[in-house]
Amino acid sequence: DNPNLPTQPEEICKAAIECYEAGAAVVHLHMRDEQDNATMRFDIFEKTVNLIRATGCPVVLNLTSSGGQGFGWDERIRPFKELKPEMASFDAGTMNWLNKVVFMNEPEFLERCGKAMIEANVKPEVELFDVGMLTTAEYYIKKGILETPTHFQLCLGAAGGMGATTDNLLYLVNKLPENCTWSAFGIGKGANEILLSTLALGGNIRVGLEDNVFYNKGGLAESNAQYVERAKRVVEEFGKKAATPDEAREILQLKTR
Ligand code: ZN
Repeated sequence: DNPNLPTQPEEICKAAIECYEAGAAVVHLHMRDEQDNATMRFDIFEKTVNLIRATGCPVVLNLTSSGGQGFGWDERIRPFKELKPEMASFDAGTMNWLNKVVFMNEPEFLERCGKAMIEANVKPEVELFDVGMLTTAEYYIKKGILETPTHFQLCLGAAGGMGATTDNLLYLVNKLPENCTWSAFGIGKGANEILLSTLALGGNIRVGLEDNVFYNKGGLAESNAQYVERAKRVVEEFGKKAATPDEAREILQLKTR
């Protein structure tokens, strides 16, 4: 939907560095194969992570554990398990995805995924697309499969989940457990609303081409860094400061480097 999406390892590495230079503390990574199809192929994750690490860029790496549809459990776990990024996404439930397919996150997979993250010292970015997923996350926190302080990502505006409105954001934020950190983003026309309301509520911000293809009404985004630059400007206008990767490590209590 946007030809500016970086898809190949070299392009993703370049985009990650640009985002860091524009003010991002964390980069969340998905992979595509040689034909630009979504993939969880380990060799492509490995190549990309090695390219970024070889630059010496201090940005925090966060790998997806979903990556698209129909991937096997081991395939989804292997990249973070072996490459040991500091963070990886953890999708706290199954949902109908964009009225097209089922985004499968079976209970047994979530248990296995959570345990593998603890063993690999990888901090989960617990993605919530709906309020029921918070109940699920609380269950895994209670069972010790998700550690505290938990980091939540409130993902609003994906069809099948909660819509990207301030009302929904506030509802979720008020329900979060006390000992946690959180971030949010809106997909589509609610993107800027969620960015601004997240800032007002004291949350962290996620932006980029995974979640949005338009930069403004009718205009495709030029790059991930373009979104980061806007987020940084908004944060500074608000009288705050974008965290450096090391500050983010402290805020999120990351274990490894
Ligand atoms: Zn993702």
